[in-house]
Amino acid sequence: NEKKLKKFYIGSIDQGTTSTRFIIFDGLGQPVAQHQIEFTQKYPESGWHEHDPMEIIASVHECIEKAVESFVEQGYDICDIKAIGITNQRETTVVWDTNTGEPLHNAIAWPDTRTKGLVRELKSQKGADKLQEICGLPLSTYPSSVKLIWLLRNVDEVRKAYDEGRLSFGTIDTWLLYHLNGGRANNVHVTDATNASRTMFMNLWTIQYDDGLLRFFELDREKIKLPKIVPSSCPESFGVMASGSLKGVRIAGCLGDQSAALFGQQGFSPGSAKNTYGTGCFLLYNVGEKPVISKHGLLATIAYDFGRNRKPVYALEGSIAVAGSGVKFLMDNMGFITHSHKISDLAATVENNGGCVFVTAFSGLFAPYWIDDAKGTLFGITHHTERGHIARATLEATCFQTKAILDAMERDSGHKLAELAVDGGMSNSNLCMQVSILELLPSSFWTSANYMKQTQANIIGIPVNRPAMRETTSLGAALAAGFAVDIWKEFDELKEINQKDRMIFQPNISREESAKMFKKWGRAVDMCRGWLD
Ligand code: ADP
Repeated sequence: NEKKLKKFYIGSIDQGTTSTRFIIFDGLGQPVAQHQIEFTQKYPESGWHEHDPMEIIASVHECIEKAVESFVEQGYDICDIKAIGITNQRETTVVWDTNTGEPLHNAIAWPDTRTKGLVRELKSQKGADKLQEICGLPLSTYPSSVKLIWLLRNVDEVRKAYDEGRLSFGTIDTWLLYHLNGGRANNVHVTDATNASRTMFMNLWTIQYDDGLLRFFELDREKIKLPKIVPSSCPESFGVMASGSLKGVRIAGCLGDQSAALFGQQGFSPGSAKNTYGTGCFLLYNVGEKPVISKHGLLATIAYDFGRNRKPVYALEGSIAVAGSGVKFLMDNMGFITHSHKISDLAATVENNGGCVFVTAFSGLFAPYWIDDAKGTLFGITHHTERGHIARATLEATCFQTKAILDAMERDSGHKLAELAVDGGMSNSNLCMQVSILELLPSSFWTSANYMKQTQANIIGIPVNRPAMRETTSLGAALAAGFAVDIWKEFDELKEINQKDRMIFQPNISREESAKMFKKWGRAVDMCRGWLD
């Protein structure tokens, strides 16, 4: 069976916030060829964050071609690529002209906070307090709905297209699917349930657009084309590649990036969870076949919907806006480091944070706090402060927010997590996953030791479990596609995938010590509110 599976290959498009990648996996879940491209982050004004929709499409095509080239060079046959899966940054909003297929504005990326004022206004509207019970999300700058409303109110071309009934809306999955299927010629306009659950337009219980929600946002369905919502794994709805060296290959899976990571981490059973440290950091906790509406600042979302005779599975989510992007900020804006992975070396030049706490609220503060008017604030600076302390405080900020999210999750679910599975770019930092004496040892030590002491484990007080192959988001999308074309039929068949050589980080400080650190963080959060423009 292993031999047979090795002969199946699945391509996975991972369109993330900072980069696009295409990875070709074999049937055992091992990557055999890949290519990755960083694309332009546009910050036209403070708090604004945009992407060029056409640059995103070009990056996808280029990644596919380069990865396929390497696949062929290694002696593999393109015909053995049985399907393609897509996973993508969520909430990011694209609008285009239905008649021409031309984008009408840059995509507004998920961490963008230009809608702060609009959100304040919407919150005071009748029915605002009922939205979360229907769609699982609180009103904030984060979901697609407010980004679309901003575009309708502020961009004449978008408004005109809407008034004339030729406005198409989509999240990045929809935009990619439209283009990969040949654009206007085939007019594929779909989204999967996980992506749709991030718009605020979808009813979490029926998995359909909700008239009440659309009414709240004053959207007329006659005037705007919304993508059809379909399951995340299906052989027909996502179409086929219309061009390039994979022309004719079926697109069979599509999941928002965090759902894909949960699936790629084998989070199939209720009670399992994962935390992905990418541009932002997202903790998803599988709650089973019924949604749980949070009372403690978390989101309710679709974990995955594999269609056929399977029921959709829901998750509680804790979203952190800034994780790896904090590291990137120290690199690009402050010039502290020349490459992200050097953050650990910089942080290791000092023994601890030297009293610094950095609330990295560059996009306000997300879960579980939801403070739209917070701004990044650095506390505890003295003459003693060095770059290393700030580097440490940057890594710790994500760890503290993870702790706050886990506390909220415990209150919402009544269940305490025994272990946290992690992945994503920033989880590569052993130091972020560890603290104190051990980080001063040479890096060769890390490969020989399986058990380590680390920051994240210390702050949350439970072990942190990291897979050797960290591309779990791409893997999840590949698995969804593989299911649709019957490479696998039962979740049980995936049990062995990516389980070898996982690394476990154990907490090694007392509860009192970690509670003291967390209390200081809490005080800093209280002080970072109220930064009105
Ligand atoms: P996304 O899918 O959101 O684009 P990735 O999972 O690719 O994100 O992670 C990229 C982020 O991780 C970047 O913001 C980068 O700064 C950070 N990162 C990458 N490698 C490291 C590392 N070794 N240590 C700390 N941060 C890292």
